[in-house]
Amino acid sequence: MSGKRRSVINQFFSDVPELTQEEDRFGSLAGGGTDNHFQTQTTSGREGVSYKIHCDNCGLPNVVTVDWQEMVIVGSGMAPHGWKYENGRLFPNLGCGNGNCGYICTVTVTPDEAARHVNAALQAKVVTPQFVESIRRQLGGR
Ligand SMILES: [Zn+2]
Repeated sequence: MSGKRRSVINQFFSDVPELTQEEDRFGSLAGGGTDNHFQTQTTSGREGVSYKIHCDNCGLPNVVTVDWQEMVIVGSGMAPHGWKYENGRLFPNLGCGNGNCGYICTVTVTPDEAARHVNAALQAKVVTPQFVESIRRQLGGR
């Protein structure tokens, strides 16, 4: 485990295959797998992790950004304000960007995946340990 910092940072900038694996694994754990037809791409940045998905209803590409505060909360196994929790899956409750569509585009973020994104962001100094600590404190410790 030691001496792996460099590869963690690399993962942070190219974690799309990694994420796909995680989603597959989680999908089979959840017994659903209904979301597997979504093509999900992620990019990490200062404002958070952006998920690019295509609307299941109209096909419009949507970008859903999960900010770092939300990532830390999900990584702690909790639901950020406004998110939905269903069948062990957490997702932001956001409508499709196409105003005529009205479909809810679900981006599933597993606590495992969120924790990994947060760790990578810490390694890349996108977020500070103080920031993560203060959010965890607000959650009431563990
Ligand atoms: Zn749509």
